[in-house]
Amino acid sequence: MRDSGGSRYDRMSRLVGSRGIAIATAGGAAAGIALAAAIIAGWGPAGASGWTLWMLGGAVGLLVAVFIATRVFVARVERPLAELLRAVERLSGGDWASRVETPGGRIAAALGGALERLRINLADHAATGRALDVMLDSMNDAVFLTSPDGLIKRVNLAGSQMLGWSQAELLGRELGYLVSEQDRPNFSIEQAANEMLELTMRSKSGQVIPVSLSGSVMAAEDPRFQGCIFVARNITERKRAERRIRYLARYDTLTKIPNRLQFQHSLQQAIARTLRAGHELALLYMDLDRFKEVNDTFGHAAGDRALEILSERMNRRLPQHTMLGRLAGDEFALFIENLPAETDNRPAIATLARELLDELGRPFQLGQHELYVTGSIGIALCPRDADNVVDLIRDADAAMYYSKQNGGNSHSFFTPEMSAVAVERLMLKSKLRRAVEREELVILYQPKVDLRDGRVAGAEALVRWRLPGHGDISPAQFIPLAEESNLIQEIGEWVLKRVCNDYRSWQDEVPRPGRISINLSLKQLRQAEFLTRYRSVFDDTGVAPSNFELEITETTLMTEAGRMVRLLDELHAMGVHLAIDDFGTGYSSLSALQQFPVHTLKIDQSFVRHAVVSPSDATLIRTIIEMGRNLSLEVVAEGIETQQQLDYLRGLDCHYGQGRLFGEPMNTVEFLQLLLAQARGDARYAPMFG
Ligand code: C2E
Ligand code: MG
Ligand code: MG
Repeated sequence: MRDSGGSRYDRMSRLVGSRGIAIATAGGAAAGIALAAAIIAGWGPAGASGWTLWMLGGAVGLLVAVFIATRVFVARVERPLAELLRAVERLSGGDWASRVETPGGRIAAALGGALERLRINLADHAATGRALDVMLDSMNDAVFLTSPDGLIKRVNLAGSQMLGWSQAELLGRELGYLVSEQDRPNFSIEQAANEMLELTMRSKSGQVIPVSLSGSVMAAEDPRFQGCIFVARNITERKRAERRIRYLARYDTLTKIPNRLQFQHSLQQAIARTLRAGHELALLYMDLDRFKEVNDTFGHAAGDRALEILSERMNRRLPQHTMLGRLAGDEFALFIENLPAETDNRPAIATLARELLDELGRPFQLGQHELYVTGSIGIALCPRDADNVVDLIRDADAAMYYSKQNGGNSHSFFTPEMSAVAVERLMLKSKLRRAVEREELVILYQPKVDLRDGRVAGAEALVRWRLPGHGDISPAQFIPLAEESNLIQEIGEWVLKRVCNDYRSWQDEVPRPGRISINLSLKQLRQAEFLTRYRSVFDDTGVAPSNFELEITETTLMTEAGRMVRLLDELHAMGVHLAIDDFGTGYSSLSALQQFPVHTLKIDQSFVRHAVVSPSDATLIRTIIEMGRNLSLEVVAEGIETQQQLDYLRGLDCHYGQGRLFGEPMNTVEFLQLLLAQARGDARYAPMFG
């Protein structure tokens, strides 16, 4: 449009030229004179004189000449000017893209040329400005340019998108207005412009957005460019990750309850509150009994599921505001605060402990198995027993250990003697190291009696630690310590050597001393050189391995069952017999046990103890004996203490028995006496067999 106008004007100006004005003026005058001559010649209006007519003709000619000259002037001067004017208006309106055409006429052309140079300059500047806009708008972080007092003068796209305000809505607002209510009182433009801050901003819809805000002051001579520039980064994701990390560090991922760190932290605070208020606080420390067996038998995934179920159950049982934490694998703890100091709170706490144990003891389903788990609880009171976290936990732990020693599934309140138990445990561990060198270990033999006739068919070797000034320490106490400190290998090998040597000395006196059982723990079976070492002991002492039976608990067997099968096959090939100890206390199915080359089942003494009074234990014993018979296994009943139990077992055709009824375990000399008497026909136990 503008182009065609320009060219029309161009064509005209080229057509007219400067000589045109003179020609037009001359033409106009000539036309006027011709008109006057015509009127004088008789065609003019009647009555007019010749001079007047000449005057009239001249005037008309002049008018025509002026008209033509004006037209020519317009075409020559005013149009190019108007065109230039329009170009100026376009430029001032921000249109720097359209070229300024060079108009005709020297001055106009020069002006047009100058305007075009100006346009190119302006276009260059504008391009730079736009590049800046593009840059700002493509940034992910929000950018705010403000005046020195914090009024927003410019904001990028990310800024308006983050806050939900349009760019126009944000202009002129104070930056502080965008800070959320909670952080606004502490917000100052000066501080924000000089240091990096983390604060929350508020969007148009009221959403609170965590941001990191860094600002700097724009120092310029020109006051229009003075102010501050702020970059705000949305750190919602980072904050979420931080919260997650904090959660993971403080909560147990499996059970979703506080872990040891968080529990101790909360306990510390609760103790401080308790001491301030003069109240009492109770800490209950709980360990599941034999939970390792659940893991070993069913796998860790099942063990985890069991822990989830149990912690949920306990949590449901607890009074409100009681914190339950998982302190380690199968260790839980909880505390109750705000207990009145002037009353004895122990009966109420004992009731709660009992309820928790009952809750634990209810059977639950794990896959196709129905399981139940028991626990041992230790209770310590603040400030009665201790007034700080470390001591209170130590005391509750000692009480828990005490409950466990007493058979588990029970609770105990801390007493000062119990901490002695814990201290002693540590002391024993350090002394155990020297026990073997100092020959403090002894072997006692518990006779294995044939239940058909009362003859001694062999014995079980039981180790004792005869610590000077301390009396005998039971293996139930120190074998776990030996396992913790890896001394078990040394002790195990010592036991086998000792028993082999004893056996050889008996063989010198009696033709057949019977079969001797030796207990093995999981750690012993796990050691790499177990087989070679045992074989070399048999070789060195010259005693046939077939005189021995190794006792392994069913839980041990089921741990790493594949490896155990290979190991036991080799032992079997050597001629050693294998017995499953404490049978009935694990979770294994008999079909699983059948893969092992086993000769003997030993019924756990806990079943034997209740056989006469508990119908369910009686059924269990009967089943094991029948099962053993069907699988051609020998069955040994452990822990026979009364004649009644003996008679009952004989009635079920149980093959062998052991227990206090036949006396306490005896030393090698005493056992030899027993064998010698029997060889002479003096069967010591015969009277019991009627
Ligand atoms: P276990 O193999 O089940 O041994 C039977 C335990 O029951 C022995 O306890 C024995 O003294 C006890 N006992 C026997 N008859 C009766 C009875 O009529 N009534 C009662 N209440 N208890 C009876 P001890 O000697 O304290 O051994 C405990 C456990 O220590 C053993 O249980 C065995 O697993 C382990 N153990 C013993 N000697 C060794 C050893 O040389 N090496 C390893 N690794 N473990 C051993
Ligand atoms: Mg045993
Ligand atoms: Mg046993």
